[in-house]
Amino acid sequence: MTGNGDTDNERLDFIREIVRSDLASGRHTAIFTRFPPEPNGYLHIGHAKSICLNFGIADEFGGRCHLRFDDTNPIKEEVEYIRSIEEDVRWLGFDWGDNLFHASDYFEQLYEWAEHLVKAGNAYVDDLSAEEIRAHRGTLTEPGTESPYRNRGTDENLELFRGMRNGDYPDGARVLRAKIDMAAGNINLRDPVLYRILHADHPRTGDLWCIYPTYDFAHGQSDAVEHITHSLCTLEFEAHRPLYEWLVEHLPVPSKPRQIEFARFNLSYTVLSKRRLLKLVEGGHVNGWDDPRMPTLSGLRRRGYPPAAIRDCTERSGVAKRDSIVDLAFLEHCVRSELNRTAERRMGVLRPLKVVIENFPEDRVEELEAVNNPEDAGAGTRRVPFSRELFIESDDFMEDPPKKFFRLAPGREVRLRYAYFITCREVIKNADGEVVELHCTYDPETRGGDAPDGRKVKATLHWVSAPHAVNAEVRLFDTLFSSPDPGASADFLDDLNPDSLEVINDARLEPSLAGLEPGERVQLERLGYFCADPDTTRERPVFNRTVTLRDTWAKVKARG
Ligand code: ATP
Ligand code: MG
Repeated sequence: MTGNGDTDNERLDFIREIVRSDLASGRHTAIFTRFPPEPNGYLHIGHAKSICLNFGIADEFGGRCHLRFDDTNPIKEEVEYIRSIEEDVRWLGFDWGDNLFHASDYFEQLYEWAEHLVKAGNAYVDDLSAEEIRAHRGTLTEPGTESPYRNRGTDENLELFRGMRNGDYPDGARVLRAKIDMAAGNINLRDPVLYRILHADHPRTGDLWCIYPTYDFAHGQSDAVEHITHSLCTLEFEAHRPLYEWLVEHLPVPSKPRQIEFARFNLSYTVLSKRRLLKLVEGGHVNGWDDPRMPTLSGLRRRGYPPAAIRDCTERSGVAKRDSIVDLAFLEHCVRSELNRTAERRMGVLRPLKVVIENFPEDRVEELEAVNNPEDAGAGTRRVPFSRELFIESDDFMEDPPKKFFRLAPGREVRLRYAYFITCREVIKNADGEVVELHCTYDPETRGGDAPDGRKVKATLHWVSAPHAVNAEVRLFDTLFSSPDPGASADFLDDLNPDSLEVINDARLEPSLAGLEPGERVQLERLGYFCADPDTTRERPVFNRTVTLRDTWAKVKARG
């Protein structure tokens, strides 16, 4: 079950080809996938790709997708992360129904299977330290060396392994390793570690265990227990596939899942590694995991990105076997397309400049009709107050305009959106010579925006009525990093953009924007799309700019 709109148009990619042919050949009659996050951080837009792929395929082929927490490392895992992951998957539009699992649900089964390997002579307890094991592993060109403990007898191995479980040894004293081949070309097959000793409480199993399975030992076996048919993961696991298959072959598992790798989703000007995102949070470089500049799903949500746009972007970026980087401009293009259809238009002024309409009566207020969304006739219209004192955007005026500046200037006439033509008559300055107020006149004949004599103006400005305006805080964002590939040449933190956040304290918005709930999105005409932030109070709205209106991606495409 998904909120995904375009399941009808048949998507073609190599994974869906495999799934389709497995159904056609009768190899599978139902398709089971899973999304397996490690609860050691917040989900980011790269995870969204995996979520859309796994839930999307299950949905399209009438199967189901499990949410499985890969909680094999008790040290880095936190309940906060588990909660956020569930919230984010739901927000993206997916529902795992009853299919919520944890690798820790299978700890007992995994332990039994480990004993099975020991008894079959396929695993042994090694007393080497982690460092020694690394030193024995060999390199890509040289084979590894066998551990002196490799040929222990089965009984001794079993006794030691049970002792590990029993808590007889300190952390790091021993490990359980698969006995495969220290000369294997694939380093993952050189007797990989299956269990390590870790006297640490686990968020779910408490102090029941002091040994924990490695990712490699837990993942495929969890897939098998859940009868996952296609275990989709990113390319870095390609070299782990032979081990995945070896384990499935050597254990009495109830089903034989197949691992298929696809390329990670990368985004320009962005880091997508939980380790780095954690550094940004812990180092105070951003204001938490849900900072609107973060590529986390909670950050994008707070910024105002609609889930449909994220699904659209990650799906249209394709499923490939080779890594590539998605242009941030493309993601923003997807966000604009969605918001263009769904966000209502409003007027607001970020940097207010006072305008007094000299020939407009002092106590008069007119209610002008404004269109809510030209893309959606059903969105209707609203009334916007117009009075003698207004605010316009200060950069819509220039005292001494260059040739290509068509907006307001002394003596010049422009249109105020949905209102009247006004002409600038006088410029008022303060003691420092800064422009603080304009005196203008309006032409009552131009109500609604056209002159009966057919005369034209070259600009239409947004505005708000000063006495009716709502004072607001508006947060504007630039990319968090100034380099398209942060960390490519130095520490990624060196590439942080010092100007990624600008806070405007004195924006003036039309009165209909007073009561928005956090999460509500609008377009402020000419300025971009905005979303009410959770910091919004009854007294004072706070808005985040989701994205500007200028679509650089569409332009690049048009140029071809
Ligand atoms: P990170 O590298 O960001 O720390 P991870 O791979 O360690 O992420 P997991 O929680 O292990 O994070 O990932 C859960 C699932 O999401 C895995 O199947 C993983 O392959 C997938 N995934 C993670 N990052 C991306 C990405 N950038 N693009 C596509 N899938 C991803
Ligand atoms: Mg991981």
